[in-house]
Amino acid sequence: MLKYITVFRYQILIWLVVLASVSTNIYLIVTQPEFDYPEYQDAALDGLDPSEANAKIYKISSYEVHTIPQPPPQLSGNLSRSPTTIIPTKSFILSKTLSSAGANAEDIAKIETSLKSLLPKNSIQNCAKVIITPQATKNYAVDKLTLEFSENKIEVTYDPKKNKYVSQKIAFPLETKTKLISGKIQGSLYSSARRSGADAELIKEFINLLSYSVDFQRDVRAGDNFRIFYEYQTNHNNKTIKKPQIVYASLSVDGEQKEVFKYYLPSGKVDYFDGKGNSVRRSLLRTPINGAKISSSYGMRNHPIHGYSLMHKGVDFSAPRGTPILVAGDGVVKKVSSQARGYGNFVEIEHNKSYSTLYAHMSKFATAIKPGKRVKQGQVIGYVGATGQATGPHLHYEVIHNGKKINPSKVSFPKTPPLTGGELAKFKKALHKIEVAIAGNEYSARNKVAKAENSDKNANKINKPKKENEADPL
Ligand SMILES: [Zn+2]
Repeated sequence: MLKYITVFRYQILIWLVVLASVSTNIYLIVTQPEFDYPEYQDAALDGLDPSEANAKIYKISSYEVHTIPQPPPQLSGNLSRSPTTIIPTKSFILSKTLSSAGANAEDIAKIETSLKSLLPKNSIQNCAKVIITPQATKNYAVDKLTLEFSENKIEVTYDPKKNKYVSQKIAFPLETKTKLISGKIQGSLYSSARRSGADAELIKEFINLLSYSVDFQRDVRAGDNFRIFYEYQTNHNNKTIKKPQIVYASLSVDGEQKEVFKYYLPSGKVDYFDGKGNSVRRSLLRTPINGAKISSSYGMRNHPIHGYSLMHKGVDFSAPRGTPILVAGDGVVKKVSSQARGYGNFVEIEHNKSYSTLYAHMSKFATAIKPGKRVKQGQVIGYVGATGQATGPHLHYEVIHNGKKINPSKVSFPKTPPLTGGELAKFKKALHKIEVAIAGNEYSARNKVAKAENSDKNANKINKPKKENEADPL
């Protein structure tokens, strides 16, 4: 044994060294903690100020925390993120709809509070469309509510910072369009205008505007030409909103052209003038009833009931029972009253500080006529009857000037003053614009007719490349 050790002493020594080295390494691998680079982080943050360094560290750590996927909180109800559109019916109740969309009572109350100032009571009935955009991943159900009306929409959105709903009204852009209706009178003006495409309301306004210069009972004859140029507004759905308004109206009477032009006064009020800038509106109509005859004028007369001479302080117009009575001028309803005798059912209208008018013996009042109510010239205020002291159906009409009953047929009614100076120059410009617009409308109407005729002629011919619609000259 000793002999072997002596012979192999160098080899044994080498093996011992190798064994020691291997076991040291194994020990080191097993006992040493995981290798890290403490210097690396220090080096990376080198040159940054401490706050920035902290921010960096925070950013990294916060990023790591939030990348862990979180399951969305579960909400009751079957909610989708796509908006739901509801067309409200008569029985529509907003809170019910919100509730079925998943909103809780607290949310509904918050939505209703935010709507309060923008949505007057009962106006929800005029709502054309309700759009609900749900929010299924947060702790509220309705993210956005849109209420669409004809002229605007109300948007209600959830503000998470304030934890409440915020409402805003957004007006839809309106488009102003114009149309020209023209024709020749055959039969009555009404039926002729209807045939040309005017509706009853437009014809009424046309007659109203020209009634100051045309006596429609006597002057209008077959073959006379009429033109009605009007404007109207459409909303985003191409639906006409607001009543059409006449911009220009004309009627040829006995070869003479009677015209009225719409014009905005400096006050912003709309009025109508002839081509020379004279107002066509008189402050009071002389005859507040259509097609009636004066049966008793103002002055001394033998009273038909009392039998003795008496001052008749008004004008009587005989007309069939139920004939509409028109208010003689713009004003405010002062009195709607009934007397068993005397006037019977009567209405008094105050036109300004010095003038008022009275209408008596009515069979009934128009429903809209209540004291304090504003009325427009030509508006129906009641119907002919024989209430009070009357021998038959007629309208007893009085004009009161500074508290005194005056003769309606003798009074000189103050007119709106004619336009002068700079205002007249402005009016002439506006008038020119209207004429150009009418010419444009006539041009495109002629084009349409010509095209229709051409397409009829060419119907059997070989198709040739057609020109695009000609540009509207407006
Ligand atoms: Zn009378």
